[in-house]
Amino acid sequence: MAYRHRYLEGDPLDLPVGKVVCIGRNYLDHIRELGNVVPETPILFMKPATALSALDEPIRLPTDRGECHHEVELAVLVGRTLRQADAATARSAVAGYGVALDLTLRDVQNELKKKGHPWEIAKAFDGSCPLSPFVEPGALADPQATDLTLWVNGEPRQQGNTRLMMIGIFELMAHISTHFTLRPGDVVLTGTPAGVGPLRSGDRLLLGLAGHRFAARVA
Ligand code: ZN
Repeated sequence: MAYRHRYLEGDPLDLPVGKVVCIGRNYLDHIRELGNVVPETPILFMKPATALSALDEPIRLPTDRGECHHEVELAVLVGRTLRQADAATARSAVAGYGVALDLTLRDVQNELKKKGHPWEIAKAFDGSCPLSPFVEPGALADPQATDLTLWVNGEPRQQGNTRLMMIGIFELMAHISTHFTLRPGDVVLTGTPAGVGPLRSGDRLLLGLAGHRFAARVA
């Protein structure tokens, strides 16, 4: 079924499905686990609208392209156009918060990194961004102090809190808007905490955002 943005309770939102702008390294513990260097400026990349799929649809992993890793991330739905915005303006433009998986073909990405090539085919493939319904902006007591959790087959794999981000949500959105105009219906992914690892066919996932729980499964 074609992906549409929606709130947890209710009909599809009257917002187009736009691009997804992501940050590569925003939690120190995750940078360390991959042996990466702490970036001086945010590493940004994008996924096209065709990457989005509803979290309650079966997740289809690309076959024969090596390991596909889960990265659980806070997702921010943009409600108003942001261009050269400051953090306060970015905050006021948030239409909702959700939780997403930034699916990553890790073997492919490592090969590309070695060659100094861009990551797109490892990050932006069809279905590479399963996304939950959104909660309204006021529903999170403090978006910058929110638990973010991923369980795989009942085992906790990723347990983070958005307070551990190096660049905060609204500063990140402001920074992005100096490079790429954010439009209503775009989504910003804010980076993943430690604990990334491969998914396998049949895995049962549970994603947590504050007290909300969203189930998903790998086809
Ligand atoms: Zn990520």
